[in-house]
Amino acid sequence: MHFALLSRSASLYSTRRLLEAAEERGHTARVIDTLRCYMNIASHKPTIHYKGEDLEHFDAVIPRIGASITFYGAAVVRQFEMMGVYTLNESVAITRSRDKLRSLQLLSRKGIGLPVTGFAHSPDDIPDLIRMVGGAPLVIKLLEGTQGIGVVLAETEKAAESVIQAFMGLKANIMVQEYIKEAGGADIRCFVIGDKVVAAMKRQAAPGEFRSNLHRGGQAELIKITPEERSTAIRAAKAMGLRVCGVDLLRSNHGAVVMEVNSSPGLEGIERATGKDVAGLIIDYIAKNAAPNKNRTQGR
Ligand code: ADP
Ligand code: GLU
Repeated sequence: MHFALLSRSASLYSTRRLLEAAEERGHTARVIDTLRCYMNIASHKPTIHYKGEDLEHFDAVIPRIGASITFYGAAVVRQFEMMGVYTLNESVAITRSRDKLRSLQLLSRKGIGLPVTGFAHSPDDIPDLIRMVGGAPLVIKLLEGTQGIGVVLAETEKAAESVIQAFMGLKANIMVQEYIKEAGGADIRCFVIGDKVVAAMKRQAAPGEFRSNLHRGGQAELIKITPEERSTAIRAAKAMGLRVCGVDLLRSNHGAVVMEVNSSPGLEGIERATGKDVAGLIIDYIAKNAAPNKNRTQGR
C-alpha cells in the first residue's frame, strides 16, 4: 500500500515510527506537510495539490493533525474523503475530539462515565454552577487548553468563584469539573486501535502537582487495566467515531471516568512505557481495513 502521512515534519517521533513501520511491512509512505496541501474546491473532481503536484495515488491517509492546525487540517482530510481515499481518522471525528465540551456531550449521550462537568456563560450563574458540580475543591478548564496548561485546581469555593470570574472576564470558554481526588494525580492513557485497547500506561503527576501530563513532569509506566476500563475506552472511541485514539481515564470512586479522547495520540510515551510496537499495530490495522470509499462520513 501507499500511505500519505499528514504531518508537519518527518522528524517527529510518531511520524518517524509510522514511516519505519510501514516500510518494514513492505508498504511505502510519504510525509505530506498538511499546511502545504491546497485544494481546488470548485472543480467537479475534487483534487489536492502539493508543491505543484497532484496528489491522487494514495491508498490511505494517516492524519497527524496538531491542535493548533485543526481547522486547516480537517479541511485537508475532508478533501481526501471526498476523493474516496480511506482516512485512518475521519475529519468529522477529528473536529469533534478537539472540542472538549462537544466530546463530553457525545460521550454522555452514550452513557459513558464522566466527571460531573458544568458549563455556563453568565457570571450570574457561577454560584449555582459550583453547587451543581458538588462544590470545592473543583477543576476549572480552559476549553482551548492542551498539555495541562489552562487546567486549574480551585481548593475553595471563594477561589473557584474568582478564577471563573476572571476567565469569563477574558471571554475564555471554560468548563468546571468535579475534582477526582482519589485518582491521586494519576491518569490512564488507553491506546485504542479499532475495537481493541492495544497498550495502556499510567501517568503519575510530579509531587505536589495534580496534572499528570508528561509535559508537566509526569512519569509514565506500564499498567494493567481492568475489563471495565478496557470497555469504557473502547466505547468512548466508538462514540467519538475514532478508529485510532488515546482515551484518558481517571480512576474514581464511581468507576473509570473519561477525561478526554485524543485523535492524534503520541507514540513516544506509550511505546517507551509499554515496549510495544504501536506504530506497527496501526499500520497492520490500516493494511487490513483500508479500501476506497470506505469512510463512513465522506466529509458530511
Ligand atoms: P489537557 O487536555 O490540557 O491535558 P486535561 O483535561 O487532560 O487537560 O487535564 C490535565 C491533567 O489534569 C490530567 O491529565 C489529570 O491528571 C488532571 N485532571 C484533569 N481533570 C481532572 C479532574 N476532574 N480530577 C482530577 N484530576 C484531573
Ligand atoms: N456529520 C455531523 C456533523 O458534522 C456529525 C455530527 C456529530 O455527531 O458530531 O455535525
